[in-house]
Amino acid sequence: MNKRNFKPADAAELYQVPNWSSGWFRVSDQGQLEVTPAPGLHAPLRAIVDEIVDRGESLPVILRFPQVVAGRVRHLNEAFRKAIGEYGYSGHYQGVFPIKVNQRRAVVESVAAAGYEYMHGLEAGSKAELALCLAQKLHPDALLCCNGFKDDGFIKLALWGRSLGKNVVITIEKFSELDRILRQAKVLGVRPAIGVRFKLHARGSGQWEESGGDAAKFGLNAYELLRVVERLREENMLDTLVMLHTHIGSQITDIRRVKVAVREATQTYAGLIAAGAQMKYLNVGGGLGVDYDGSKTTFYASMNYTIDEYAADIVYTVQEVCKARAVPEPVILSESGRALTAHHAVLVMPVVDVTGPTRDIEEVPPPTEESHQIVRDLADILENITARNYREMYNDAAGDKQTLHNLFDLGYVTLDDRARGEALFHAILRKIAKLVQNEKYVPDELEDLQQVLADKYICNFSLFQSLPDNWAIGALFPIVPLDRLDEYPARQATLVDITCDSDGKIEKFIDLRDVKATLPVHEVGKEPYYLGAFLVGAYQDVLGSAHNLFGKVSEAHVFVRPGGKFTIDLFVRGQKARRMIESMGYEEPMLRDSIEDQVDAARRAGTLTPAQEYELLEDYGEELLGYTYLEYEDAGMEDIPAPEQGSDMAPADAPKVAADKAPKAGQKDFIER
Ligand SMILES: *Cc1c(COP(=O)(O)O)cnc(C)c1O
Repeated sequence: MNKRNFKPADAAELYQVPNWSSGWFRVSDQGQLEVTPAPGLHAPLRAIVDEIVDRGESLPVILRFPQVVAGRVRHLNEAFRKAIGEYGYSGHYQGVFPIKVNQRRAVVESVAAAGYEYMHGLEAGSKAELALCLAQKLHPDALLCCNGFKDDGFIKLALWGRSLGKNVVITIEKFSELDRILRQAKVLGVRPAIGVRFKLHARGSGQWEESGGDAAKFGLNAYELLRVVERLREENMLDTLVMLHTHIGSQITDIRRVKVAVREATQTYAGLIAAGAQMKYLNVGGGLGVDYDGSKTTFYASMNYTIDEYAADIVYTVQEVCKARAVPEPVILSESGRALTAHHAVLVMPVVDVTGPTRDIEEVPPPTEESHQIVRDLADILENITARNYREMYNDAAGDKQTLHNLFDLGYVTLDDRARGEALFHAILRKIAKLVQNEKYVPDELEDLQQVLADKYICNFSLFQSLPDNWAIGALFPIVPLDRLDEYPARQATLVDITCDSDGKIEKFIDLRDVKATLPVHEVGKEPYYLGAFLVGAYQDVLGSAHNLFGKVSEAHVFVRPGGKFTIDLFVRGQKARRMIESMGYEEPMLRDSIEDQVDAARRAGTLTPAQEYELLEDYGEELLGYTYLEYEDAGMEDIPAPEQGSDMAPADAPKVAADKAPKAGQKDFIER
């Protein structure tokens, strides 16, 4: 990679865009990150964000691309069609989308619309989800699978769904649900369609390995499975048992686990037929992975197979077992959620400030006669660092700094000495940073040093709201600057969010092998600098939480048109402060009354003039109705101290933000939250 003659292709490689994007995003020849939802369609993300800012909207924002959801749905279905055609499989594929992955209207409606021609259905895991699913427009033969623990209300809704002509299947997750279903079916006079979830002994791989195996939370064992058959036979209802369901966990990283599980599932399916059930559907559950780090390995953030291989291996395995057992080939279902939705959403985070050990441009006063020995030692180190010894010198300096602080605690080092010592240590880091920067290859053992030297890029977002899996389970998401990808990113950074929680930071980034501690980024100037977090469309929206009362992020639904053009079809404003406060049990009038009472008292006490009183109430009201994230008039980056080492890059050539930020009057496609 050439620093001086850095090309967009180099950026694509550095950020591994082709590896993780599966073709839905690319780096353009102009150094822009582009979405590419279909052949010939492309739009630069930076231009979309600029349009949003021009409309007077605040960031952060989630960009949603319904075309990408549709593309994923088609890809999955076509992959199965192809495999079924190639193997001469006599059944068909008919997936369901588990809406827990993302219940957002735009997502569910995109899946339903694109899936219509494939009879793609939905899966609900709770009463609320089922209520939502029942109201969707699906192909009449599309399946609506009801999983999760069920009470009578849940079962009734599912049965009424059948009366509405929908292909609803109620999955028995634990044995006692069978009686509930039979009872409600009699009460309502509706014949159910029943599925059984089987606890495979096969397990998944990766983070959700525990979802499978004998100790799994859901499912029946072999004995219970046969009791279901007996019970239904007694009731003369064995024909209602139509589906076998299995699920070995999400994000299966290793295709061999899929094959092993599908083999066991198909044997079980054949066993049920042998026991007299007239089965029709074999549901292999979720687990189809997303290659977040692009490494194509069994690493937890990756997967060692493609969608096409997944489909082919399932169809092949089911067919093989069915042939051997001489049973009819079932309709195959998967409940793929993550793989359908992860790619469609991008979180855009503006960088609002930069700090870092090599940026503090303190004066470094030379030690005096009175300075403590430890300070003079640090001065010596600074003097003597070279390209050959900096590793060793760094270790010495780090040890001296520790000693400096210990001595300070004991009263042997003065505040003045401490200040000199710390300034020297930072100067040492700056000098080392310069030497490291000149190295062609940074050896692995220097990575920890790179982490120490890294900048902190402060980004206007909440990790807990927008990337909760990064915090909770260390999930990795590719993060890439939206533009300037024709410039060498000369800085290394970790990211911090704006919550007051020290966990609100990102210090692990995707890498071809394992993870990286820092992200290559550009120096930021006065122009806005935006980072995109990609593949965030699965699970993040709904798992996100309101830490510090940072609320839901604004969303733009973007449609890409020919010729590099796009339209923002819908903009949903992020939650207002008032909504967040009210969600905690307060009411707006209560807040306003309290402030007004205090204002009255302050006026009487003479600490507020009438003019100030008016302004105070105005400002308070404005914030209640405002976005919960930082809203800078400017980019908020006037004071970022330049790093010590001269960067030789060209200044940012980002498009100007329009001065007139007022929202356009009569804009219909805006929704308030
Ligand atoms: C969560 C879940 C899914 C979705 O899994 P993905 O890995 O996101 O495809 C499917 N089925 C069941 C039963 C689930 O619990």
